[in-house]
Amino acid sequence: MSLDVAYSIEAQDYLDPDRAYDLYWSGAITDKKKFICPGSGCMAQVTCANLDTDIQDMKVVPHFKIYGDHSKECEISNKIPLNLHYEDGAPVKEERLSVDQSIVDVFELDRPESYYDEPRDNDSPKAYGVNKPKYAKKTRETKLRENGSVGTVYSVRSVVSRYIRYRKDGSIKFRRINILGKDINYSSIFKCIWEQDLDDLPKFPVIYYGWAFINRLPSGHGYQIKFKKKLKQGDDELTTTAMIADSTIKKYRIKKLMATRIERIYQKEMPTAFVFIYAQPEVNISRSDIKYANFNVKNLDMVDINYECPLPKEYNK
Ligand SMILES: [Zn+2]
Repeated sequence: MSLDVAYSIEAQDYLDPDRAYDLYWSGAITDKKKFICPGSGCMAQVTCANLDTDIQDMKVVPHFKIYGDHSKECEISNKIPLNLHYEDGAPVKEERLSVDQSIVDVFELDRPESYYDEPRDNDSPKAYGVNKPKYAKKTRETKLRENGSVGTVYSVRSVVSRYIRYRKDGSIKFRRINILGKDINYSSIFKCIWEQDLDDLPKFPVIYYGWAFINRLPSGHGYQIKFKKKLKQGDDELTTTAMIADSTIKKYRIKKLMATRIERIYQKEMPTAFVFIYAQPEVNISRSDIKYANFNVKNLDMVDINYECPLPKEYNK
C-alpha cells in the first residue's frame, strides 16, 4: 500500500505529498524528514522524497517513503483503512464514489483562507515520542478519504502530479476529477496546444499544455509565455500566449517555486518551458493586426511551468 497521507510534525496535520510540497515552497514547513506514519499508535518515520528539490524532472513527483517499523496495530502495515476522524468527531469516510465506482478528486479554483496556516502553539499534538492526534484538522477544506488520500487539489501543478502518480500506480482508469461540479476523466482534462480550431475546443476552461518560449514583456513588468504551436480559427493561425505580471508572482504564496523556475528558464540560452494553464483561450487582435489566442491567468495556481515535459512521451510535442 502506497502512502497517500502522512502526519507532518511541522504542520501538525495530516498532509498529502502535494500539499506538503506547497507548504514547503511557501516556507511553512522546512524538513522533508519531519513526517510520521498516519497509522494508529505508529511512529514510523516518514520522509517526503523530492520535497526540497526544485524538481528538474517532475516525472519523479513528491511522495512519502517509510523508514523504521510500524506499530503492531498500524493500519498501513495491516493494509486496512485508517482510523482517522475529523476534529468534530466525524469519521473520515470516502467522500465521493460515483455510480461507476470511480474515485473523484475535486479541483477547487480557490484555496481556503486557512490553507497556509501556521500551526498554533495550543494545537497540542505532542508528536515527538508521545503520539499524534487521531483527528485531521481541516474539517471542510481537506477531504481525507477512508483510504487516507486527500481528495481536494488546488493547483494545476497538483492535478499534473496526481495524473502522473495515478498512471504509475495503475489506478488512472478509476480516477476522475470534478471541476465546478462536473466530473471529467483525468486524461481528458489535458488539451495540447497544437493546430486545433478554437471552435472544436471545449467552451469551458480545461488544462492546455505545450512547449513555450518565456520572454520578458517589453514593459519590463512581467513575462510572456508564447507557445511554440498555434491554435487556429478557420484559416487563421493565432499566436498563442499568456502573460504573468511580476506583481502576480510577488503575491503568490509559493513564489519561491514559481520565481525560481521562471527565472532559471529565462536565463537559459534557449528559454523554453513545458507549460500547463487552466483557462479558456480568448481571441484578441493587436494594433498591428496580429490575431492572438490569449489565456487569462487568474492566479499562479492555474499555471505550472516545467523544465521538461513531465508527462509520458506521447504528450511531449
Ligand atoms: Zn505505520
